[in-house]
Amino acid sequence: MADWPIPNPIDPINAEFWHVQQDGVLRFQRCTECGRFRHLPRYMCSECGSTEYEWAPSVGKGELYSWTVTHQVFHPRFDVPFIAAVVEFPEGVRMMSQLVNVDPDQLRLGMPVEVEFKVITDEFQTPVYRV
Ligand SMILES: [Zn+2]
Repeated sequence: MADWPIPNPIDPINAEFWHVQQDGVLRFQRCTECGRFRHLPRYMCSECGSTEYEWAPSVGKGELYSWTVTHQVFHPRFDVPFIAAVVEFPEGVRMMSQLVNVDPDQLRLGMPVEVEFKVITDEFQTPVYRV
């Protein structure tokens, strides 16, 4: 059986994103000048132009914003159907990940979901969503 695919970021700021997730707390970038959260990781705030930021904890709960259900195996470690979901967080950011523990027929826009971490290896875990 193949190993789970693990991100191998080229951009240092994406590497930072994955590094700060490894304590099991979902974190997003937050501008330390104006306080705006942002995701995907970027070097500059789109609101105020500041390059200063911190990795601030998320509340870890959000609403289902969009999804797609994959029925074709595109990686041997991904069971199908596989739900790729975009969740909108109260911090004002959206993030895509896998939605687990729900039948695709039960999905509805705006349904509440929360983050949990799926342990992939001794050194890597990744955020996924649970209803
Ligand atoms: Zn800012």
